[in-house]
Formats: sequence, C-alpha cells, structure tokens
Amino acid sequence: MTPRDELDRARAFFDGRISSEPKLTPTRKAELLANADGRRCPTCSCKMRYLKGKMFGHEVSDAATVEHIAPNKMGGSNERRNLAVRCNLCNRASGHSINEWMQRRVNPTWEEICRVLNYLWLEVRDTSKANELYPEFFAAFQRKRNLLKTKLAKREVRV
Ligand SMILES: [Zn+2]
Repeated sequence: MTPRDELDRARAFFDGRISSEPKLTPTRKAELLANADGRRCPTCSCKMRYLKGKMFGHEVSDAATVEHIAPNKMGGSNERRNLAVRCNLCNRASGHSINEWMQRRVNPTWEEICRVLNYLWLEVRDTSKANELYPEFFAAFQRKRNLLKTKLAKREVRV
C-alpha cells in the first residue's frame, strides 16, 4: 500500500492544489545509486550495475536507475519514501505500461489513480502480491518487459 503521506500528496495534485515536483538533480540520483552496484533489483532480482557517470538507453537492462514509485505525473513526491532503485528494464517497462494506461484513461477518477498507485507500490516490492491483487496491471507490465527484453536479445549490446 502506498504510504498515507504519498497518497495525500497525489490527491492534492489530482485536485489541482499543488503542482508536480521538480526533476531530481543528478547529485541526488548519484546519492541514491551510490550503493546500488551489485545489489538486486527489488522487482526481478537481477544483479544491478551502477554505471557511474555513463549515459545509457534501454540497451543496458541491468543498469541501476532511480525511479519514482508514485509517478511524478500522478503527483508523486521526491521524498525518499517514494524513490526506488530498480533495474533499467523494470523501470522502463513500468513507465511504458503506465503511460499506455494514462493514454487510454484520459480523465481517470481519483479511485482509479489510487488503484494504480497502490499497484505500483507492490510492483516494485512484492510482485506476487501485485499479480494476485492487480492481475491486469501486472500482466501489462510483464508484456512490456518481455517486449523490451526481446528487442534487447536481438541487438545483443554489451556495455
Ligand atoms: Zn528489474
């Protein structure tokens, strides 16, 4: 479940009372990534690599990345509670599937947003629960993830 403070912030954003947070600074990201090298992705358990100072695209699936659990465009905060270090592949797959959802639901209700936020919380930390409680979201995430993985396998890029 999304922490209460995070949900309250998302609600205020939904009601138009506050705006979205500024982008995380590179320094803040580096701080969060500092100990990520060799650690496991909380979603897929792959061993992540911290590619310090390197630019990379989707081709480096195991690169450690910082992400907002409650997305910035849904009013997610820059507080530590809302930031997770995940592998590039899981982060991108999650972003793609949420973007698709947002494109389909042009004016979602607060209840729908709430559902997505609670799902995302589980997607990062507890995939079996995510699959049990929100099977349609989890299936969409996995489809995206497999798609990205297949693309990668074809290119076989090593960094
Ligand atoms: Zn992962």
